[in-house]
Order: sequence, then C-alpha cells, then structure tokens
Amino acid sequence: MPASRNFGSHLPDYASPTSYNPSEDLLQHWENEKLRIVTYPHPALRHKSKPLRRVDAELRAIVREMFELMYASRGIGLAANQVGLPFRLFIANLEGEPGEGEELVFINPVLSRPKGTEEKEEGCLSFPELYGPVKRPKQIHVSAYNLAGEEVSGTLDGMLSRVVQHETDHLEGVLFTDRMSPLAGQEVQDDLDVFETDFLSRRATGEIPSDAEVAASLAEWESKYC
Ligand SMILES: [Zn+2]
Repeated sequence: MPASRNFGSHLPDYASPTSYNPSEDLLQHWENEKLRIVTYPHPALRHKSKPLRRVDAELRAIVREMFELMYASRGIGLAANQVGLPFRLFIANLEGEPGEGEELVFINPVLSRPKGTEEKEEGCLSFPELYGPVKRPKQIHVSAYNLAGEEVSGTLDGMLSRVVQHETDHLEGVLFTDRMSPLAGQEVQDDLDVFETDFLSRRATGEIPSDAEVAASLAEWESKYC
C-alpha cells in the first residue's frame, strides 16, 4: 500500500560510480536480477502464494531489497508476489521511511477473529496513483512468523489492521479493486483499462515476460523455498 495519495514522483538519487566502469553485460545482469514491483494486470498478482518452508541468507537479502523498493515507492506495505515471488510473505512499515517506525515482516500469516467494519480509501503499489474506498473488518487477529523464525501474534486495529488485511489478500491473489463496491469499481474501471492497455504494449515490446515465463519463474522459486 502507498503511504498516501499525495506522494510525489521523487525517488532517491544514487551516485553513479566514477572510478569503476562495469561492462555492459554485467550491467545488464544486475538489471535483470533486480527486484521490481509488478503492476496490474501482471499474472504474479493473481498467484496464490505457498507457505515458506525456510529462511536463508538469500531470502533475508530479498526482504531487505523489498524494504528498499517499498521506501523508494513511498509505500507502507508490500507483498512478495508484488515483486514476482510466490511466497506467503509481506513486509510493512507504517512510517514508510527508512530509519523510522518499525520494519515488520510477516511470514505465513493467518488472519482470524474479524470484528466490526470500516470503509477507508486504499491504494496499492501495483496500481500507481489509483485509489478507492474499501470496506474491511476494523479489527483482526494475526499470527505469523518473523524473519528470525519466531511466532508473532496479536490483535490489530487502525492502519496496521488494514495494511495486514490488504497484504494478506495479495498472497491469495486478491486485489483491493476486487473488494470495492460495484459503484466504486465502476469509477476506477477507466483507470484499470489504461493499466491493461499499458501492460499489453509493454509486453509486446518484450519488457514484460509471457505468462509461461512468469509461471516458470514462480515455479522455480516455489521449488526452492515452498
Ligand atoms: Zn497492494
């Protein structure tokens, strides 16, 4: 989820190396290996994630990279399948700033005991600049594991309750637009059409892999961690 609807387009600047010139091949390799946030209607967003069986140094590095991506995109929550990974894992930091707030990692989350209902505006890093009202339980109980393998559980209210429900939906392949009322859904339909047209044209240029390639990549990660 993004921090608010008023985020700008500012991204952190990265100093370019001056004394070292990596080869084109190496640059291309880094570019290919980097995690990216996928946008609607990328098929990874409809993938039902499998429970994670293990956590290793590579997975910790992936989670670190997810936090950096989330901060750069002005977000407060990000699910693994939003970066093309099929794990039941998501991250959150309600402050949305590195060095502020608490960095939370939820592995294999289970939600229970929903109470009350509340409608609030939501957004999603996979739907840049699209916002709409979503009705959800006000309070929820979550139990999950953190990166250290410790079980964490608690009853959540307010923004964290909403973020945890939004991100757990992602792990089931459910998107916030699915949960909008028919009227709110109609209001965002034109924007969804634009996302779809853009996706098809980026796929036509080869920038976005085919469904078969996405499925193969998800299956490879699953065989390694799930
Ligand atoms: Zn989202």
